[in-house]
Amino acid sequence: MELKAENVSFNLKGKSILQNVSVTFCEGRRTAIIGPNGAGKSTLLKILAGLNENYGGNVFLGGENMRKLKRKDIAKKLAILPQTNAAPPDTTVEHLADYGRFPYRGMFAAADPKADREAVEWALSVTNLTKFAARQVMTLSGGERQRAFIAMALAQRPQILLLDEPTTYLDIAHQLDVMNIIRKVNAEYGMTVVMVLHDINHALQYADETVIVKNGAVFAQGEPQKVLTAAAIKEVFGVTAEVFRNENGKSVLMPQF
Ligand code: ADP
Ligand code: MG
Repeated sequence: MELKAENVSFNLKGKSILQNVSVTFCEGRRTAIIGPNGAGKSTLLKILAGLNENYGGNVFLGGENMRKLKRKDIAKKLAILPQTNAAPPDTTVEHLADYGRFPYRGMFAAADPKADREAVEWALSVTNLTKFAARQVMTLSGGERQRAFIAMALAQRPQILLLDEPTTYLDIAHQLDVMNIIRKVNAEYGMTVVMVLHDINHALQYADETVIVKNGAVFAQGEPQKVLTAAAIKEVFGVTAEVFRNENGKSVLMPQF
């Protein structure tokens, strides 16, 4: 499913946070959003997820204007992993994943308990957490906990997955676990993925599209290999970097210390 922002602007207390952001996230593509702290990336992601409605411009979810859609209908199509997550105390991994079923529930009861169970089992299996189903979320390692929150998002059975810095605070092995799970759901289920990433090399390696956000506006968008150049990194982050080619001919960026 396609997600599209058209001239999205956002002001907060008289300050402009986003200005005329127009981006199309095509069906089945993996897009990385890159930009400095405070550029407006999380604000944009929340607007794209329908969590912030006080914006100018429009967002289209599968061609439908987001403003016309109900919260639960949005949540059946799109899930977001926010930048920071917290589970209520004593929540097990399975219970946390089951929270992802909220859009399919009525006021009191599950509409389809079998579909709920299957979605939770699938989400735990995709995130390699089946054996941790009964564990309390707060006892997990950072990498396992992040996978549990991804499982909650996947249990929604979304066609679009938004992730805000999913690998921040994780060691290199757990970063790759998370990136590989994202790649798997994209490749096997055609899920459209939009991820805010801090690691430019992750964007170069895992994304087919990059959007660079600077000062609340789109600075550049396109193929990561074309957009994430040394010149762009210099202009956006003020950092001098060298670009190397790896054995697959892909760019690898190395900041100069
Ligand atoms: P990023 O995710 O790119 O680091 P954010 O979208 O979180 O950036 O923030 C963009 C700008 O909006 C920043 O200048 C930030 O200080 C400001 N901002 C975001 N949320 C709030 C808030 N609740 N109150 C005041 N300023 C905010
Ligand atoms: Mg942020």
